[in-house]
Amino acid sequence: MTKRVLHGVTLECVQGDITRQSDMEAIVNAANAELRPGGGVAGAIHRAAGPGLDAECRPLAPIRPGQAVITGGHRLPNPWVIHCLGPVYGRDEPSDRLLADCYRNALRIAEEKGIRSIAFPAISTGVFGYPVEEAARVAFDAIHAELPELRTVRHIRFVLFGASDFAVHERVLETLGESGAQDSPG
Ligand code: ADP
Repeated sequence: MTKRVLHGVTLECVQGDITRQSDMEAIVNAANAELRPGGGVAGAIHRAAGPGLDAECRPLAPIRPGQAVITGGHRLPNPWVIHCLGPVYGRDEPSDRLLADCYRNALRIAEEKGIRSIAFPAISTGVFGYPVEEAARVAFDAIHAELPELRTVRHIRFVLFGASDFAVHERVLETLGESGAQDSPG
């Protein structure tokens, strides 16, 4: 498993299920605009969280591509869920900026709540069709740019469902920041 510490923040990738990250304070939902259960990550999160999450989400919807909103975790092991609407690839443009907005906005909301650890799925790479490697680069670059601003978030995890998605994210994480940014100790 690749683990990098940049600006005092641990970045890592794991292969697994986003609903089973019990050591993280917040998990991120690859939400739909209506913040409804649906399939993929959103379906899994709503199933694990129970109907209380759907009820809390309703008044917050709809959200726009790139936007993030926060709720409690209900029956999840995590106190918080941050819901992001990723861009539909080829429809919501510019898709790279909108995808980067998801990660940036999720981290900013986490900071507002004093959250220390956050787990992301690969937003937009399922039914929204974003090519995985491109999405991984956009995601890590957006997170990397935000690292100097982070005061409370100290642990960021990517949770990838499939082995090939995991391998792609590991590779992108390994080379992150090689074009100039410095690793910091601890
Ligand atoms: P989007 O609509 O943003 O594309 P999806 O939920 O369809 O979101 O998929 C996003 C990514 O999350 C896909 O790569 C999919 O394989 C993966 N995924 C699906 N279920 C889970 C899960 N329970 N935990 C982690 N990743 C998941």
